[in-house]
Amino acid sequence: MLVVKVGGGPSIDWEAVCADIAFRRRREPLVLVHGGSKELDRVSSLLGHPPVTVTSASGIQSRYTDDATMEIFTMVYAGSANVSVVKRLQQCGVAAVGLSGVDGALLRGPEKGTVRTRGDDGRERVLRGDRTGRVTAVNAGLLRLLLGAGYLPVVCPPALSERGRTMNVDGDRAAAQVACALGADTLVLLSDVPGLLVDPDDSGSVVLDVRSNEVGGAAAIARGRMRVKVLAAQEALLGGVIRVVLADGRVSSPISRACQGHGTVFRSQGVPRARE
Ligand code: ADP
Repeated sequence: MLVVKVGGGPSIDWEAVCADIAFRRRREPLVLVHGGSKELDRVSSLLGHPPVTVTSASGIQSRYTDDATMEIFTMVYAGSANVSVVKRLQQCGVAAVGLSGVDGALLRGPEKGTVRTRGDDGRERVLRGDRTGRVTAVNAGLLRLLLGAGYLPVVCPPALSERGRTMNVDGDRAAAQVACALGADTLVLLSDVPGLLVDPDDSGSVVLDVRSNEVGGAAAIARGRMRVKVLAAQEALLGGVIRVVLADGRVSSPISRACQGHGTVFRSQGVPRARE
């Protein structure tokens, strides 16, 4: 079982991703999770509600999601972004089915409500009305039902909160929970970088291998949004996933390359690094 998360950057080669999915799903069951962050930035700015990024006290960046942002978020993710991915996969002959985390209560968990942020001056503030949260439960039965009937689930946030509301959840961490719930061997996180970089300005400085006991070191070199990917990798390993690959989504056969070990491979301790 393979779970693939594709980021929301404009330089992702979606044609290559979809062709690779069409090829790989003949060999193994696959679930796709996608983002839409850059499109959401664009649409929310167009609608006069530009994005606001907050950094938590622990250094994790997230989108401050007030009610208006939540409305636009749902329009973009469960609307244009999800339909666009499903349409592309259908064009490649893949029986794709789009699902937000609300469909069949696929992704559920608690809402935070408030977010503690640290400003540039280093001072902590508490922001209220934040509709973000964390996935703690996945309806794996629904995914298995679809996979068993030959469909490819295409999953995106929002998730359903314990209060029955839509909530913004991080796509990488949601994908990690999906991988854990399905007992997936591999989680691939495709983005617009070749992996975790020692120097974010040097694409040749990819960290090749991270064991589960070295994740702290990996987190220390990650900045901004990359920190969330490292956290997602850690959560996936803790939940039983054997390896997590942070890899480039701008290249041909991106998933196959990631599964061959191109990118940053996080793996449980004691499992030897294997190339296909
Ligand atoms: P996506 O939308 O694909 O999920 P994000 O934009 O959320 O991707 O995160 C990837 C970004 O993280 C990269 O484009 C890069 O700018 C940034 N980044 C910060 N630190 C690092 C690092 N050490 N290695 C790689 N990327 C990094």
